[in-house]
Amino acid sequence: MGKTQGHTEETVLEIDMGALAHNYQYLRSKLKPDTKLMGVVKAYGYGSDATEVAKELAVLGIDYLAVAYSKEGEVLRNEGIATPILVLHPLSSNFEVIIDRCLEPNIYSVKILEAFISHAEATQQRHYPIHIKFNTGLNRLGFQKQDIPTIVSLLSQTESVRIKSIFSHLAASEDPNEKSFTLSQIAAFKTMADLLTVQLGYRSLFHVLNTSGILNFPEAQFNMVRSGIGLYGFGNDSNFDKDLKPIATLKTIISQIHQLKEGESLGYNRGFVASGEIRTATLPLGHADGISRIYGKGAGWVSIRGKKAPILGNVCMDMIMVDVSTIDCREGDEVIVFGPHNTAHELATHANTISYELVTAISQRVKRVFIKSSSK
Ligand SMILES: *Cc1c(COP(=O)(O)O)cnc(C)c1O
Repeated sequence: MGKTQGHTEETVLEIDMGALAHNYQYLRSKLKPDTKLMGVVKAYGYGSDATEVAKELAVLGIDYLAVAYSKEGEVLRNEGIATPILVLHPLSSNFEVIIDRCLEPNIYSVKILEAFISHAEATQQRHYPIHIKFNTGLNRLGFQKQDIPTIVSLLSQTESVRIKSIFSHLAASEDPNEKSFTLSQIAAFKTMADLLTVQLGYRSLFHVLNTSGILNFPEAQFNMVRSGIGLYGFGNDSNFDKDLKPIATLKTIISQIHQLKEGESLGYNRGFVASGEIRTATLPLGHADGISRIYGKGAGWVSIRGKKAPILGNVCMDMIMVDVSTIDCREGDEVIVFGPHNTAHELATHANTISYELVTAISQRVKRVFIKSSSK
């Protein structure tokens, strides 16, 4: 922690904690005062650093954290994070770790409910918190409405577990063309959550919104919402992107500059052939660092001295080459792959993917540097 922002001498992912705080406050401003906020820190905190992000979110006052797999929750507990943690995709083989580290499982099927109850009973738990997930149209994980009697019957026979929340996940909350589908998911969720609540005889937290849901369907916040991408600075919509700050800046430097003549080729498989004189810069990051081959052959670019330098030819494992013919730059100069200005969203969209994929792909080989206060 604490290294100052500035010129880099290697490839680094700079994480701006001030931007994280800004995004947290922005999302909070969209919520009613008593709506709880769950911060989703799965996949290394969307490629940034789950531990540092979770610690900062705890300081900011986050109510809950979520990870995808129990292993990710275990890491947070080992780092001393005491905030409640929902495990979105627990497997039966994880139950020991889940209970040992006080992680709270998403229970999404009768099979996993039965298995978790028997584990909780075997370890003499009382009212161990679990979260019931309904499938409302994503068709990925979750109970169906017809499972409710089975859930109620299984729970009526044990004191070992207790439902802390009931939730569902939206399939297309960022897409205005799917508004009616999203509203039908929200309605189906409410029906199922109410039915289960009445039959259980006690209340639990209800939550259905992810980041785009918070921004587009604020009336459906129930008692809690879950945000991942918004905390990292993306709103899946230019209207919201302007109010959020990307927390991660991927920086590198120019290792070498080459002059190519007409007809000369560049990189593996001669992926680029110069049609005239051209100046190229070689950068020390490649597909092993998370810049996939889809960004090659002009689909992606980096920013050098504020100008776009398109990626030429094929992305190599450890290097990319970019066109700097019109950029006044030298070896050792700083390169921004993505950041607050040339965003991961723009770069990903241009290559037909999404910001989520680009930011979570930045590999552990890239050093993370944390900036305490925002200067952006
Ligand atoms: C990943 C995930 C989220 C976070 O979604 P964002 O679009 O990043 O806000 C929320 N809920 C569930 C179930 C998820 O899997």
